Amino acid sequence: MKLIIASNNEGKIREYKTLLAAVGYNEVLSLKDAHLECDPDETGKTFEENAAIKARALFEMCDCAVLADDSGLMVDALGGEPGVYSARWMGLGSDDDKNNEILRRLEGVKRSERTARFVCAIHFIRKDGTEITARGVCEGEIACEPKGDDGFGYDPIFLFNGKNRSFAQMSADEKNAVSHRGLALKELLEKLK
Ligand code: IMP
Repeated sequence: MKLIIASNNEGKIREYKTLLAAVGYNEVLSLKDAHLECDPDETGKTFEENAAIKARALFEMCDCAVLADDSGLMVDALGGEPGVYSARWMGLGSDDDKNNEILRRLEGVKRSERTARFVCAIHFIRKDGTEITARGVCEGEIACEPKGDDGFGYDPIFLFNGKNRSFAQMSADEKNAVSHRGLALKELLEKLK
């Protein structure tokens, strides 16, 4: 069965491709692969709303199943920011700038109050129009300095669940096993079975 994913992020597509083959989606395409452009305004106030906006906009354009996700980092000491604005928080472009701004704002905040979580919402629409949603949450805390060279985005400043290692210090397999995206995908697969 054919599935188009509302993304051109190769890492994401690879991960989805491998796992969705197990539930019968053996033709998984990125927007680019499908020669489509789909970039609706993400006006939602939640990850779920934004994932639904992207999935529904794409579904209008094709004749097969579609999947969209939306994810980000929520820092308790910042009232849940960057949250749904994770990709473009404070108008800051580079990952380093965003990470440094979070670290600056958390200067002097003690470890027990540096709690944070990554959240991922997936919105899947089957070819017949049935909608399925899944959510994954990964708890952790914000480090006092960036650590590690792997990963992307906020990975260097996110310490996974009581560990002193950041996501940027974990292998892709280690991260996928516990990450917000990995958990959301696991829930989606259960619902698609
Ligand atoms: P999107 O869901 O791909 O639009 O991601 C939104 C933003 O959240 C990204 O640009 C990253 O800054 C951040 N983000 C989402 N997932 C992760 C992750 O696993 N590690 C680090 N940053 C992430």
